[in-house]
Parts: sequence; structure tokens; C-alpha cells
Amino acid sequence: MLPLLRLQQVERTYTGAAAPALHDITLDIHAGEYVAIVGPSGAGKSTLLNVLALLDSPDGGSYAVGGKEMAHASDRQRQQLRSQRFGFVFQHSNALEARTVTKNVEVPLISQSVPFEERGAAIFDALEQANIGHRAQHVARLLSGGERQRMAIARALVGKPQVLFLDEPTGNLDESNARHIFDLLSELNASGVTIVVVTHDAALAAEASRQITVAEGTVVSDTSSLPPQTIEFGRTEIPSATKRRWLRAAIDDVCEAAWSLWDNPGRSLVAILTTAIAVAGLSATVNLSLSASNQVDSLISDAASSNLRVALTDPRMDTFSDDSLLTISAIDGVVAAGRADLYAPADARVGRYAAALPGDPGGVGAVGISGGTFATLDIHIAENVASLFDAPIIGERIAVLGEEAADSLGIIDGVEAVVFVTGVPFDVIAVVNAASLNSDVMISNQAAANLGLQTRQEIIVRTKPGHSSAIADAIPISLDAVSPGRYSVAGAANLAQLRSSVATSFNVLTLVVAAVLLAATIGTIAAMMSSNIRQRHGEIGIRMATGTHRSRIGALFMIEGFVIGLSGAVVGTIAGITIVILASAFQGNAPFFDFLGMLLALAVGVVGGVVAAILPSWRATRIEPAEAIRS
Ligand code: ADP
Repeated sequence: MLPLLRLQQVERTYTGAAAPALHDITLDIHAGEYVAIVGPSGAGKSTLLNVLALLDSPDGGSYAVGGKEMAHASDRQRQQLRSQRFGFVFQHSNALEARTVTKNVEVPLISQSVPFEERGAAIFDALEQANIGHRAQHVARLLSGGERQRMAIARALVGKPQVLFLDEPTGNLDESNARHIFDLLSELNASGVTIVVVTHDAALAAEASRQITVAEGTVVSDTSSLPPQTIEFGRTEIPSATKRRWLRAAIDDVCEAAWSLWDNPGRSLVAILTTAIAVAGLSATVNLSLSASNQVDSLISDAASSNLRVALTDPRMDTFSDDSLLTISAIDGVVAAGRADLYAPADARVGRYAAALPGDPGGVGAVGISGGTFATLDIHIAENVASLFDAPIIGERIAVLGEEAADSLGIIDGVEAVVFVTGVPFDVIAVVNAASLNSDVMISNQAAANLGLQTRQEIIVRTKPGHSSAIADAIPISLDAVSPGRYSVAGAANLAQLRSSVATSFNVLTLVVAAVLLAATIGTIAAMMSSNIRQRHGEIGIRMATGTHRSRIGALFMIEGFVIGLSGAVVGTIAGITIVILASAFQGNAPFFDFLGMLLALAVGVVGGVVAAILPSWRATRIEPAEAIRS
């Protein structure tokens, strides 16, 4: 014989309130009743409804649902009761405006992960019950007030609740629409739904089978005449959730998110673009700074390099004179110098047999060097072995292989191997790591000259570290003061060029970062303002309805954009200064400020704010006042 809902001496006082919103409320509501809660504004009707609907908890007394004391129920149990046994309708129907009625009614089914195949029937039933089936495919935004409330009722009914709670469902409706809603509630009640409705309209309340009047937080009259019912608060038939609940929830959430993005393509696009700008900026900045640092790195290692290669500008018509090597060696700061006569692989025809076989490897060149070149190139080889290159007779027939050349030729340890250069045999005396000559066969200058090949001569020079640039300038003049243009020197760093390259790299980097930040600022402010304007349609409508000209609405938002940009820029500049101070304190440097840079940052903020406001402001001026107020 339990009542469905039982309140006993319930108290509810809001924090900070002088008087309790509910005081000593004791009442039973039985299954199948149609109860109207009436009373003046501020009497506590909504508070009472919220307590009954488990949206709020009493701070005194007891509340039992189906005989179960709610004070001891967990949040989860209360939530399950709400979603499976109760339905709610509020004064404002809070619809997904861009979606159809059907989609709106589906929302509770999505919350409960009801199987897809059960949804259609549940929605159909609810729409029929709420008498809104003929509007199933209409977009919520286009419904009349009465239709919106029917949709809200359908949404409350779709989970097949036992109790329907309604708070001023007709508050926004005209009399005839309000009457329709109450008629509908009578029908629902007749079909077995327990109804508890708060209303300030006594005439409508009279439609209910029981009226509870509340004043100053207490029940002052109650027309209850029902004898205690025997209906148990048993399990109702609600669409059941099954094992694959999480999968359904995931599918639902993805679909809902996609719908929401689709509902507002402009906003989604701005959000995507803003993200794209940020990501593009990030990757551009990272890449630019990496390539700038690589460039600086290679320029600096050139500057630090101590190897120069002196070549002839016109190797066909010109040769180095015999004393070139001595002249260069005498220059202050030169550690060693050696001559290299380079032969291209096609000319040298290096192989392991006298006649080149079809399978012989290509790519191995020959180079004629003097014994001193080993030291010049920092190639590690015993001094007495190197000196063999300068001994006329022996030098004629010995070769040193670079490791790569040995590899290409298939010579493993170099012992007793013979290589042929233009068909002439050479005994391999060593295989070495030969730096820039690693893929060459090294033979003596003399032997190379005897081969009678077209050659490209170079003098390789090792300098003291840091001297390469000055020595590179000195070499052509020392060799031929009259026409130094005969010689070109590679490998020296040009410090002036280094400075300007570094500066250019960093200027480009700075400009790109600034542009990206500006774009991101504009995107962010535009997105923020667009959604702000959408939320303020009502406000815009009222302003327009009371005579504000469209242009002033536009100006209003432009000014907002300016203020946002300026304040953001000021706060950002202060934050930037703080970061610089902290970072330099951390690194132990004196902080460095660029006044012009700070002004630029301020300008970026202001310009960003104003530019960002243009489109949203223009759209605000296009709003129709009647539509805005309605929404
Ligand atoms: P009714 O629905 O009858 O108009 P309410 O239940 O909304 O009355 O409010 C009862 C009393 O509690 C009123 O004095 C109201 O100002 C106060 N009240 C309502 N909600 C709150 C709240 N969240 N915080 C503080 N006081 C509230």
C-alpha cells in the first residue's frame, strides 16, 4: 500500500535565505494521480517540484520513492530513477534549434544508449502521445510555442516514464495553446501516466484531479481524496540497454558531435581554420627555426673549418707552377699543403684487371698526390709509407686506396692486391680512411702524370683554425699578384655573408611567427565574437525593436572587437615582458627589450581585434529583430 512519492516533514532552505523555501511539507502522491501544484510566485512550488523530481535534495525530513528512502540513495541511483522513471518539462523547452522534432525527441534515448532499432518506435509513440506526430520532420526553430511544448512533452515521454513533472509548461503560451497542453496532460493521465504539474494558473489547475496549494513554503490546502493505492512502484517497460552499450554510446556521440558541427557550419569552419593556423604556425616555426639553426651550424662549421681547396679558374689552359706548393706553404697560418691531380672515374678506368671487364665497378676515380698530401688531409698513414710516394722509382707503381674505393673494387684487406688505372697495374700498399678522397685510388703525382690523362689540379691546404678566411684571400695574390683571378679557393667561410645569412634567417622566422600570431588572434576573436553574437540574439532584437539603427549594432560589436584586441594586447605585452625577464634571470643574462617590437605586438592585438570583428559585426547588422526576439 505504498504511495509512489512520499514527503514527510520536508525542509529546504537555500543558503543565505532568511526563510526556508519549503517548511514541514508532508504529502503522498499515488501512482496514477494528476496533481497540480499552485500558489503565488515565490511560494516554493518549483522547489517542491525539484525535490519531488530528485533534481534537488531536502535538508530535513524524508523523501521516499516507491518506499525507498532517497536520503540513502547514491547519486547513480537517483540519476537512474530520473532517467528511467521520471520525465521533465520546463517552461522553456530548451530545444536543439537546428534539429528536427524527431532528433530532439531522440535525445533522452541517446543519453540512455537505447538500441537504435528500438528508437524509431519509441519516438513514434511519444510523438503520437504528445500529439505532435504531424511535425516530426520540422526543424525545432520553426515551431510555434504550443508545438515546442508538445515536443518537450514528447521528449519527456519517450523514455516511457511513470511520472511526468512539469514546471509552468504553459508559462509562455496563450490561453488556447495552454488549454491544449492541459487537455493533453489529461489524456496522458488517463493512459496511466502520473502527472505533477506546477502552474500559477488556477483555471488550468482545475483540470487536474488534485490541487495542492503552497504558500510561503508550506502546503495550505490539498484536495486529495484518493484512498491509498495498491499500485506498486514496479519496473516499468522502458527500452532496455544491452551489453553493447558503450559501442552505441560511442556511435551516438560521434553522430551528435557531427550534427552539432553541421548545425553551425560557420562556427565549425572558423574553429577548424583557427586550429589549422595554429598547427601551420607551429610546424612553420619549428621548421624555420630548425633550418635557420642548420644554416647557422653549417656556416659556422665552414668558418671553423681549416681545409681549403685551391683550383684553377681555367684548368684547360692553365696549370699550377712548380713552386705553387712552396709559395702556399710559406703563407703564415698554413699548416700543410699538398697537390692533388684529380681524374674522373670515366677517364681513370680503375679496375682489378688490365682490360676493364663489363662487370667492373664504376665510380672509383684516381688522384695523383704527393707524400705530403696525406698529412695535409689528415689521413693517418705511416710517415715512411707516405714518403714512398715521393720516391721516383717506387712511386711509379704503388697505390693507396680510400676505404670506399676498396669496397667498390671488392678488395677486403688490401694485402697483395693489384689495381689497374687506365690499364696500368699498381700494387695496393694500404687502405685508409681518406676523407674527401675516400672513393679514389691515390697514386703519386709522377705516376699520374705519366698516364697522360686530362686532369683537374687542386692544391689542398690545411690552415690553423680560424685562419682559413684570411688565407683564402691571400693565396691567389701570393700565387700571382698580377692576375689573382687565375685561382679560386673553396672551403673558406665568408664572415660577412655568415652575419647577413643568420640575420636573414631570423628575420624571416620573426615575420612568419608574427603573421601566424596575427592570423590566430583574428581567428580566435572572430570565433568568440560570432558565438557571442549568436547568444545575444535576444539582446540584439530588443535593441533593434526599440529603435537602435543597424549601423549602431555593427559599431557596438566593432568597438567590442577593438576593446578585446587592445586589452588582450596590453595584457599580452605585460606577460611577454614578464616572460623575457624570467627567462633571462633563469639564464643569467640581462633582459633585452625591443621597444619597436612591443609596439608591433600592441598593434597586432588591436588590428587583430578590429579585423576579427568585421564579419561578425556585419552579420549582427543583418539580424531580423522579430526573429531575434523570438529566438
Ligand atoms: P515558486 O516556484 O513558487 O515561484 P520557488 O520555489 O522558485 O517559488 O522559490 C521559493 C523561494 O526560494 C523564493 O523566495 C525564491 O526567491 C527562493 N529561491 C528559489 N531558488 C533559489 C536559489 N537557487 N537560491 C536561493 N533562493 C532561491
